[in-house]
Amino acid sequence: MTAVPRGRLIVVGTGPGAPEWMSPEVTALVAEATDLVGYMTYVDLLCDILGPAAAGKTRHTSDNREELDRVRFALDLAAQGRTVALVSSGDPGVFGMAAAVFEILDRDPQPAWRDVDVTIAPGISAMFAAAARAGAPLGHDFCVISLSDNLKPWEVVEARIAAAARADFVIVFYNPASTQRQWQVDRAKALLLEHRAPSTPVVLARNVGRDGEGVRVTTLEALNAADADMRTLVIVGSSQTRTVLRAHSRAGEGPWVYTPRHYPEDRATGEARS
Ligand code: SAH
Repeated sequence: MTAVPRGRLIVVGTGPGAPEWMSPEVTALVAEATDLVGYMTYVDLLCDILGPAAAGKTRHTSDNREELDRVRFALDLAAQGRTVALVSSGDPGVFGMAAAVFEILDRDPQPAWRDVDVTIAPGISAMFAAAARAGAPLGHDFCVISLSDNLKPWEVVEARIAAAARADFVIVFYNPASTQRQWQVDRAKALLLEHRAPSTPVVLARNVGRDGEGVRVTTLEALNAADADMRTLVIVGSSQTRTVLRAHSRAGEGPWVYTPRHYPEDRATGEARS
């Protein structure tokens, strides 16, 4: 009997889009892969970044919704002794494929997968790229919420927004809207306005590191649901988040947005005020 070579599952993130935002580790790991599995947009992005280094790898692309099936498929391939790269955008552990892998390994383990060697490689999440473009809005305590209610009930989303608003966290919203989901941003805005000033800075970052990049600074009051889609990240400041004019601002560029690291004792939090 010939032993099947030990397969590998490598879970990688491309970063937000720009080649320089994909880590050298991801490049090196993917170079060893025989197969690439993932949502078509991300696999294409990975191949564009890698250029000739991606040649000869078998691509298995699918629709974004079949996440758990895609994981099973990738594990089955790896169990045959192949080296499979499972591709997310940004960081694979932030609303990406890494957690889906463990969900399957935990809930529905198959004997054939036992010998598959799993590696998760970190990536630059969209929030870090968006924050850097805008200044330093994540300089103090922040939290991250997906506004999508595809995988969790909307009541849970609302409870988290309210709690985060009360605790005066800077809040990063992933998946703010899609063609099917349009109302969530308005609902989030209404909840936030119960705890936060209308003038609170808001960053709208679209396609960061990709073609058509646009980063805008607005206020909570002026935040418009139509400004966000599935390629946008929304960062809502805390009571401490401030703007400062750029010395040499290019056309269309707003002020810098930052959240100070030092918490002044004379400035109450949203919680203490309400
Ligand atoms: N794992 C990814 C997030 C996947 S969820 C990461 O770590 O970045 C998909 C959401 O991420 C999108 O709806 C959008 O809100 C955000 N996003 C991903 N890439 C982005 C980019 N280049 N610019 C702005 N937002 C982005």
